[in-house]
Amino acid sequence: MHALTEAQIRASLINVTQSERRNLTLPGDVSDTPWDALQFYGARDRKLALVGYVVVELDGIPTGLLLRQADARPRSRAQCAWCADIHLPNDVLLFTAKRVGDAGRRGDTVGTLACDRFQCNENARRRPTSTYADFDVEAARQSRIGSLRTHVEDFVRGVRDGL
Ligand SMILES: [Zn+2]
Repeated sequence: MHALTEAQIRASLINVTQSERRNLTLPGDVSDTPWDALQFYGARDRKLALVGYVVVELDGIPTGLLLRQADARPRSRAQCAWCADIHLPNDVLLFTAKRVGDAGRRGDTVGTLACDRFQCNENARRRPTSTYADFDVEAARQSRIGSLRTHVEDFVRGVRDGL
């Protein structure tokens, strides 16, 4: 994806209040982000333990969501809905996104299972292992990277469009 500044990430969030937008604290230096290797930007807030942010480009426009880690723990061995990797090196958590507009103000949320620190970009890029001799590892990897983008875009678009 194209590189974003912290100000652009802040401005991209579509389901936040003004104070949530102000209180965002991203980890590290955003300019160190390896943008070329990302299908989406994902980060946990450095100060707010349960909060995270994901940003994708929808029709060329950076569009981001604030996600909240839900109290409910997913069943063990849950699968991330985005990278769909079945051999994850990390935990998968349930996150909720407040809907935009009136629905969000009434407390409506949409949930998704995702990697605990949004490691999906790295996970999708790991070489899949297979015991089949004629398994095309690189094709499988490319297909997983493409699906990751589609999964996150669909989720963010659904919240944006109130689906
Ligand atoms: Zn994932």
